[in-house]
Amino acid sequence: MIARIDAERLQGELDTLASFSDHPPPAVTRVVFGDMDLRARAYLKSLFADASLIVHEDPVGNTFARWTGANPSLAPIATGSHCDAIPNAGRFDGTVGVLGGLEAIRALQRAGFTPERSIDLILFTSEEPTRFGIGCLGSRLLASAVDHLVGETLTSGGQSLNQIRSSAGFPGSLADVPLRGGAYAAFVELHIEQGPILERERIDIGVVTAIAAPASFRLFVEGEGGHAGAVLMPDRHDAFLAAAEIALAIEAIARSSGSNDTVATTGVCELFPGAINSVPSRARLDVDVRDIDEARRDRVLLDIERASDTIAARRGVTVRREPINADPPAHCAPTIVDAIEGACNARGLRHRRMISRAYHDSLFMSRIAPTGMIFIPCRDGISHRPDEYAAPEAIARGAVVLADTLADLAAEGGRGEGLV
Ligand SMILES: [Zn+2]
Repeated sequence: MIARIDAERLQGELDTLASFSDHPPPAVTRVVFGDMDLRARAYLKSLFADASLIVHEDPVGNTFARWTGANPSLAPIATGSHCDAIPNAGRFDGTVGVLGGLEAIRALQRAGFTPERSIDLILFTSEEPTRFGIGCLGSRLLASAVDHLVGETLTSGGQSLNQIRSSAGFPGSLADVPLRGGAYAAFVELHIEQGPILERERIDIGVVTAIAAPASFRLFVEGEGGHAGAVLMPDRHDAFLAAAEIALAIEAIARSSGSNDTVATTGVCELFPGAINSVPSRARLDVDVRDIDEARRDRVLLDIERASDTIAARRGVTVRREPINADPPAHCAPTIVDAIEGACNARGLRHRRMISRAYHDSLFMSRIAPTGMIFIPCRDGISHRPDEYAAPEAIARGAVVLADTLADLAAEGGRGEGLV
């Protein structure tokens, strides 16, 4: 059985999917449960049906397209990714894993392969935190990593997640979303690297061994406002300057963690009242900290807490921190890493092991299933921008490695035999 990827068809489908966007090309903006997201989902579901996959959706909109195996009593395996895109993003983040996963399945069908285990292609809801402020909403719910009550507490534009998803056509209780452990024997996600390593080293495939542990929090600074002309410098308790000093402290702490794997970003700074002639009385920072070593990341978070308290005391302001999330890192399953490497070797593709610094739905799927990720190079490591680009050959190589990996895990006598 030799699976062959129809690279031209896959490119055409990526083009069509990119056309469902709130911004003109090359930018892609597709916010979960918005009109473009729903149109993109309808398009994808039509492709799933064309491939004779059986589609079902859960109450949060996670979509499962199944190729039924010869032995449906065995736990299925799965692949998939997301199709939502942050404002002004590119066309390959997530979509390569969805359409590449579909093409991998079609390639196996064309090659006459019969899977012993069923193979699911999963389209995860809201991997991006754009609308509800929390990333990987769909996979988080599947893995019970977030309580189903978020349906009421998460809001967007004054409406709850429950209201928004029901009007988008996804009714039912979020309590029905979580999967039981063992629901899948394996999960493999194909994704662009979103970093420069593969391109720089001229390597075809990155075999992910771990996904960094992300944490994020909001920091509110409360100082004293006043007239920009009247309040003298010694009397000021400027909330912005305290926030600025805290942001610099965050940078210094991340830089001195002892590892390049520690990264910290202050990506949002909002000031109140935000007028040129007014001393800022309040400031809000949104901070993201990541590491593959959870203990080191948590030390960094603690150091940030201490530094912000010290700065606040010295400047006569108060700070309050509100955690958004703090997830543990994921370690990929050796069986799946072996299967991906085996596929690369059989195809004569250059590959290397690497960690993922960005998080993905795999971070949460790894809690309920042995998980692995296949990375392909993207130009200059750029992502979340309109000029995000992955070459058609690179995408086809990723899809063929995915096809071979799925075949290995789903076949009778394959590597997947020892899995649940
Ligand atoms: Zn992604």
